[in-house]
Amino acid sequence: MTVPERVDVAVVGAGAAGIGTGVALSMLDLEVQLFERDEIGASFRQWPDEMRFITPSFPSNSFGLPDLNAITPDTSPAVTLDRQQPSGDEYADYLEAVADFHELPVETGVDVTAVHPREETTGTASDHNQAGTAPAVDGGGALKTEADSGFVLETSEGAVQCEYVVWAGGQFGKPRTDVFPGTELCVHTSEVRSWTDHAATSSTDDFLIIGGYESGIDAAVALVETGCRVRVLDRGEPWATRGPDPSEVLSPYTLERLESVADSDRLLVEGGAVVEEIRRDADGCFEVRTRGADGYELDDGADNTFTVPTRPILATGFEPNLGPVDSYFPRTEGVVQLTDQDESPSMPGLFLAGPDVTHNGIKFCFIYKFRARFPVIAETIGDRLGVDTDPLESYREQNMFLEDLSCCEPDMCDC
Ligand SMILES: Cc1cc2nc3c(=O)[nH]c(=O)nc-3n(C[C@H](O)[C@H](O)[C@H](O)COP(=O)(O)OP(=O)(O)OC[C@H]3O[C@@H](n4cnc5c(N)ncnc54)[C@H](O)[C@@H]3O)c2cc1C
Repeated sequence: MTVPERVDVAVVGAGAAGIGTGVALSMLDLEVQLFERDEIGASFRQWPDEMRFITPSFPSNSFGLPDLNAITPDTSPAVTLDRQQPSGDEYADYLEAVADFHELPVETGVDVTAVHPREETTGTASDHNQAGTAPAVDGGGALKTEADSGFVLETSEGAVQCEYVVWAGGQFGKPRTDVFPGTELCVHTSEVRSWTDHAATSSTDDFLIIGGYESGIDAAVALVETGCRVRVLDRGEPWATRGPDPSEVLSPYTLERLESVADSDRLLVEGGAVVEEIRRDADGCFEVRTRGADGYELDDGADNTFTVPTRPILATGFEPNLGPVDSYFPRTEGVVQLTDQDESPSMPGLFLAGPDVTHNGIKFCFIYKFRARFPVIAETIGDRLGVDTDPLESYREQNMFLEDLSCCEPDMCDC
């Protein structure tokens, strides 16, 4: 395989964000290349068989309400797949169909291992951040500057020169496991390909899950449906908390699934338990030591230790998978800082697409949120390279072009 020597824009990752941004960029007169270390939609292909999208798909595009899981204004997974709640495999099929339809140049099996600003290769990069030309977080510095002089990507198949990089590496490749001592004894939800197989290959049918948000409850319901007994521990009570922002509370789909097994007596959800450590006892069982979260009293076990015969399941979520560009995206309290164009504030020309985009405290962690930023990135790059960006109007017409970030305020619902 040979990678191109030079392109205008390199997009790293061919998941929902990479394919979606790639399509927006490909509408402009630009040379775009996507690099994917695995295959298109690889993260979705690794979801457990039983898992489904929590955001529903519906063919509502013709009323200016694009399917919530669509990544372009003119497609709908509901239409492509005939599914309301697609599985991971099905959604990856949709992503492949979109890439095929738009004839996107995607090189699969190419790992991007390093991204250098071009001047670094000539030895002047150390001055990069001192040049004073980097855009401010508020979006200043829009024009391409001397410091904004392109990149060299090191890949497993050779070096590529480009003017702009869009990082779309997702989160699935970086499970959050560094949360308390003993996590090496656990299994993270991202390692499980089928909950039915997981139950079948375990010595007993007693399980303990740490984390009661979407992936924890998804695992719990799937295991209970196979006849297992499951205890879920969480520092709060996500299953009892309601609010208008789906990034903060369980989705209606998950609550419905939870309700469907509530009468089985095989599911125990326990709020207010902060796991401090996991150890193995003399019988080979796993001791999960907890303390009560502020404001909670645990009823089970005087020392708040839970013993389970199977490896505890970590449903502790994911971290940003920024790989070789990690140091170019500063964080404040764990939140990635971006300009108003989703560009690195310290590395002009490097953009971020996907679920780590956050503005004004609002996480763009669902597809229907982060997709609205694809045309913003494409228009910014198009303007800087002086090409016509009118083709992006279709995103505006379909309400998939979120430019005014003042609308990113906590949702309010009257009922
Ligand atoms: C378990 C789970 C369930 C979710 N459910 C929903 C849901 O129901 N609805 C919703 O809207 N959102 C959901 N999300 C959130 C979000 O939509 C997904 O995280 C989605 O996969 C993000 O798309 P992405 O393109 O950013 O990342 P991914 O789909 O993970 O794509 C990233 C791609 O980048 C590639 N890559 C990474 N590093 C490199 C590198 N160095 N070189 C080359 N390639 C690289 C990876 O192989 C991967 O294919 C869910 C997330 C998770 C983890």
